[in-house]
Amino acid sequence: MEKIQEITKGKAKSLYTTSNQEQLVMHFSDDTSAFDGKKKEALMGKGSVNNQFNAFIMDHLEKNGVETHHIEVLNNNDSLVHKLSMFPIECVIRNRASGSICRRLGTEDGLILESPLFEFFLKDDELGDPLINDEHILSFGWATRHQIDEMKLLTYKVNTILSKLFLDSGLILVDFKVEFGVTGEKILLADEFTPDGCRLWDSETLKKMDKDRFRQGLGDVVESYHQVADRLGMNIKLD
Ligand code: ADP
Ligand code: UDP
Repeated sequence: MEKIQEITKGKAKSLYTTSNQEQLVMHFSDDTSAFDGKKKEALMGKGSVNNQFNAFIMDHLEKNGVETHHIEVLNNNDSLVHKLSMFPIECVIRNRASGSICRRLGTEDGLILESPLFEFFLKDDELGDPLINDEHILSFGWATRHQIDEMKLLTYKVNTILSKLFLDSGLILVDFKVEFGVTGEKILLADEFTPDGCRLWDSETLKKMDKDRFRQGLGDVVESYHQVADRLGMNIKLD
């Protein structure tokens, strides 16, 4: 499938139209950003590992009953996806406290939560992706009650499936962000699931293996993504 025209250029990925009106090519670039786009760098090979990592995770979720937008990998950096109308919302689940919740609630980094915590954020870089709740979503008409319930249910399901997958490979899924979109009546998991959008810690040493290595300037960002992929038995092709 050929890329025709770029329709979205995000901070890490671009979307292109194809000859099929219902399908898009998602291109994973090396661009890496943090702090709502304030810290930016191109990390060689990151797009390629993320594209292939994402495909592995989306396939695993599909096999376990979560419908996703992913169709197939086209090459190292590109995948074919179903074109969706996206909710302007990020769905986050936290198993341990880290990142923004620690700043917001003064919580110690790594605190194990009594139960997984679900949070909604509005996708808006200029506003710093503010925390929102069901009432905001309903009042502003960003999604219906049914869609809210479905997004929560699916995000919890993703957490259950992936926490096990990672733990079996010696990794703790600390937290993650997912996005959903609709086509017709169907809600599909969209965007990506890669170490750019989750926190993964080694279960023995608690070493950070995710984008916090970039946020915190710890180095070996792409190398760590490859190590996670290797542990999960992914066969990542190099550029
Ligand atoms: P950002 O928007 O945070 O800069 P990206 O660089 O990841 O993020 O850009 C990808 C964009 O593509 C996001 O806005 C995301 O919501 C959107 N997107 C993801 N999957 C789909 C899809 N299946 N159909 C339409 N848009 C999508
Ligand atoms: N996250 C993301 N994109 C965002 C915001 C958060 O992928 O725009 C992910 C982040 O990598 C982490 C989880 O969502 O795995 C929770 O992020 P948090 O709210 O702690 O924010 P951050 O520490 O990234 O500011």
